[in-house]
Amino acid sequence: MSEAILMSKTPHIAIIGAGVGGLTTAALLAQAGYRVSVYEAQTYPGGSASTFIHKGYRFDSGATVAGGFQPNGPHAVAGRMLDINWPVHQHDPAWVVHLPDRTIQMCQDHQDVLAKFPNSGRFWEQQRRVADLAWQMSAEGLPWPPQDIAELGQLIKVGLRHFPQDIRLAPFALSSVHQWLKRLGLHNDRAFVRFLDASLLISAQATSKQVNALYGATALDLTRQGVYHVEGGIGNIAQTLADKVCELGGQIHYRHFVTRIAVENGRAIGVYAKKGRRTTQEMLFQADFVVANTTPWSLESLLSEDAPPALKREVQQREATYGAFVLHLGIRSDRLPPNTADHHQIVRTLDGPMGEGETLFVSMSPEWDTSRAPQGMRAVTVSTHTRIDRWWDLLENDHQAYQATKQQMADTIISRIDAVIPGFRSATELVLPGTPVTYEFYTLRQDGMVGGFPQTSLFRARGPRTGIPNLRLVGDSIFPGQSTAGVTLGGIRVAKDVMRQFN
Ligand SMILES: Cc1cc2nc3c(=O)[nH]c(=O)nc-3n(C[C@H](O)[C@H](O)[C@H](O)COP(=O)(O)OP(=O)(O)OC[C@H]3O[C@@H](n4cnc5c(N)ncnc54)[C@H](O)[C@@H]3O)c2cc1C
Repeated sequence: MSEAILMSKTPHIAIIGAGVGGLTTAALLAQAGYRVSVYEAQTYPGGSASTFIHKGYRFDSGATVAGGFQPNGPHAVAGRMLDINWPVHQHDPAWVVHLPDRTIQMCQDHQDVLAKFPNSGRFWEQQRRVADLAWQMSAEGLPWPPQDIAELGQLIKVGLRHFPQDIRLAPFALSSVHQWLKRLGLHNDRAFVRFLDASLLISAQATSKQVNALYGATALDLTRQGVYHVEGGIGNIAQTLADKVCELGGQIHYRHFVTRIAVENGRAIGVYAKKGRRTTQEMLFQADFVVANTTPWSLESLLSEDAPPALKREVQQREATYGAFVLHLGIRSDRLPPNTADHHQIVRTLDGPMGEGETLFVSMSPEWDTSRAPQGMRAVTVSTHTRIDRWWDLLENDHQAYQATKQQMADTIISRIDAVIPGFRSATELVLPGTPVTYEFYTLRQDGMVGGFPQTSLFRARGPRTGIPNLRLVGDSIFPGQSTAGVTLGGIRVAKDVMRQFN
């Protein structure tokens, strides 16, 4: 009897979505003794960082490069908190950058970067110092922007612990990467700026003119901190977390589409979900607290008329973020040049717009991971940033043109890879293109917007609060934004915040 009463008093936390952010929060809350239920629309976890199975391939649906496993990296920190041994293997070079006039091996020692950009030594020295401090501080918890007294206290504590070295971060916190380059006289070095822009676009969703220098210094640290392959595909980060949630007594309900967040007297009281896309029958799952692993746009539509005015304003005012055009390819290993690196970034020109096939990220499953593809084959994911509206306009106005543009883009991209990796086209046996329309279908991210917000001013960063006291946002829409490592930091922060609400 008393046990039953105790059981029912344990707060129930409903988490909408089994992305890496949602699952990190779920695992930490389950470990802390909360009743945790995750509602995931798909039959597998991971969202933008999932691995799906098709014709014997295990394709990474979006993310392919796993960072943040160094000792003070977010995955390592979460792994220690949750007693997880991640199924990862470091690889070097992390990737190879192909600019029109030079090729750069992105190795942990940065030797080739310095050799190809001999004037950039001072930039990298400063970058290293800033990033080292930023990693140390973030491992201790940097809830930015602070949302209550407790978070402000935590920021002050970490700030004081690293005083006075952290004062050196101020000029970076207040300027853009471009202004930093200008201070060093590097802003007119076209190739170097292009090289940085390509890297920042994939790690900060904007280029040097917009990206905040402190954020940029940390984002540019990925290769120095080490890049990893995840056994079985990147989706095994989420799968490992999902297994941990279940081991700790939490529940994951796959094929559960959350259709609405139930709100009464200004508080979330649970979520309505339906089992499967087609059914119309909804069930209410009551909860004491709700965490949404969604974008603010999706959150607003889940709240509908209960959305607080500030959230309604936010989704009207914010510019749409990028989408991704992706190709999933099955390629024959033996047609590739010997010792071809697993990851490549291809930048076609030194000027002009990026994305839309002009910049590409190509990732091949490692040859040693035979679980990823049929014998003799490799599972490849190629992605490029794209504007979401062009795909939705095409789909709505001319379905045939939508299909034709998709095929054309796939063909152009394969040719561009072939120009850099000879034999790539003839190695390709299976082609599955995906647009923002595909992303919306599979990740339920509104309009297929992926990657979170561009990391421009730190003072415009978004926190997890939603305007409803027992509802939080988690995932790449909150600071520090995109990447499996970034959403892990956000997930840890949100778990601590939820725990504080019940103490
Ligand atoms: C093409 C591409 C390449 C990328 N490359 C990299 C990379 O190399 N390295 C890297 O670290 N990061 C990369 N990223 C970014 C990274 O994948 C994301 O930032 C991160 O995975 C987002 O995690 P999240 O927690 O926000 O959840 P999401 O990935 O958005 O997952 C949310 C989950 O919630 C579920 N869901 C949403 N709404 C509902 C609902 N109403 N009901 C039920 N379930 C719901 C979805 O099905 C999904 O599973 C890439 C992203 C893309 C798109």
